[in-house]
Amino acid sequence: MSIQANWQKLYEAALDKSLPALETIPGVILGFHSTIDGLKRVVPEEIEKILSQDPALAEEVSRRLGSLPAEIRTPADLLVGLASSLQRGKALQLMIREESVYQWVMEHLGYDQIRMGGTSGNMANFMAPLPLPRILVYSNPLTREQAELFVDNQNLYVINQEGELQHPHQAWQGEGIYAIHWIFEYPKGLKLKVGDQVLESPRANRFIAAWNPINNKLQIESNFQKCLPRLLPSFSHFVVSGFHILSETYPDGTTWLDYLRPVARFLRELKKDHSHLRFHYEFASIASAAIRKGIVDYILPTVDSLGLNEVELCAILRDRGEDELAHNVENRTSLVAVLRALERLADSTGLRRIQLHDLGYYLTLVDADYASGEETRDAMLFAGTLAASRSTIGRVGTPDEIRQGLDVPLAEQLFPLMAELAQELEEEEFTKTGIATKNGRRIILVPTKIVAKPVLTVGLGDLISSSSFILG
Ligand code: ADP
Repeated sequence: MSIQANWQKLYEAALDKSLPALETIPGVILGFHSTIDGLKRVVPEEIEKILSQDPALAEEVSRRLGSLPAEIRTPADLLVGLASSLQRGKALQLMIREESVYQWVMEHLGYDQIRMGGTSGNMANFMAPLPLPRILVYSNPLTREQAELFVDNQNLYVINQEGELQHPHQAWQGEGIYAIHWIFEYPKGLKLKVGDQVLESPRANRFIAAWNPINNKLQIESNFQKCLPRLLPSFSHFVVSGFHILSETYPDGTTWLDYLRPVARFLRELKKDHSHLRFHYEFASIASAAIRKGIVDYILPTVDSLGLNEVELCAILRDRGEDELAHNVENRTSLVAVLRALERLADSTGLRRIQLHDLGYYLTLVDADYASGEETRDAMLFAGTLAASRSTIGRVGTPDEIRQGLDVPLAEQLFPLMAELAQELEEEEFTKTGIATKNGRRIILVPTKIVAKPVLTVGLGDLISSSSFILG
């Protein structure tokens, strides 16, 4: 049998096992934030009109062009951030610090469309179509506008004011948008006139301005904290993410550490009292090295499992001064460096499971007593099929639609890298099974399917990590 046919058979068998297995998983909790994304196309005439009506604002924006505000406290900060992003064609995200600016943007620019935002909210919406019995998502404040962005599936819950599980569509309280992440999108070649300069975007990109005064401090709502423990016997998995919303410092003089510590303590206590629960942390790209290091020091020791991509792995390595290893990981010519990097991370944090996803492969390190090699591999293969199907049709579909992910071709370029790793691990069967054992850990590598023209890839990493974690 060819190596391709061997892996295709493994993919098919894994899917046949995984769909029924999802039905037997007690429940999944997703924390710690859901929010509203306000999509807004940048319309130069709109901004030029605002500037022409307010000469002082126009003068300030003109004068500050090319500089980057650290955060948004005034309308000028917002427009300077937007202009800088557009001028360079570079993605930029800034927090809005003043409610008056949030009101100003609502009034002067508004949004074209709102959609679900926040890692937990997005994960909830793409997991709910799976045959999982119960998904509890953290969403605060849950106003009607936020609640309506959740999908209809009846396996999705929040904790309501009475401390019971209820679908978000029934559990909302009050109306209004109290938090919004504006996504200002611009195409390539868009011209914006500021004073006597005409800026032109060298490529399409986006500028994000986020107003999220509650979640920005990751403060977990007290009703959720109080009621969750009683509900935990019905749940088995906890996926934690969204910490990229933290800021290094806050206007009131507090710092990220003031808020990361209580979350770590909350997780630690839940884990101590409910040892059946397994925790996963999904790393996201975090610009601040201090916060990244904080997560490695405070959060990783409290969870069982970690999911990350190759860029996030390199950032962690560089934070620790392991520049050469990071460089070798980035080279992409061998997976030996990637494996070494994951082993070092597992050794230093005590994580029982780490899964890395990259285009073309997923690599997982798991303690031998956490899960078997086959279970772990089959969960990763299921995630690969799910990711292929979602990239093709743009959503998590029915079991039949998920099955169509099997038709997407495998990443051929991975096989030589896999053969090299097999030699390194002295495990002859590795290219066929994807499973090796070293130092009391299983090492599992699977080649993945790559969709040539994906419809949607945003949030794909979260989907891959969370589905592999839940099934593995
Ligand atoms: P996000 O932060 O949006 O969740 P990541 O960058 O963490 O995304 O992960 C994206 C992952 O999605 C990649 O590592 C890769 O495994 C997978 N992926 C990306 N593009 C494709 C594609 N065209 N076909 C299949 N899988 C893809």
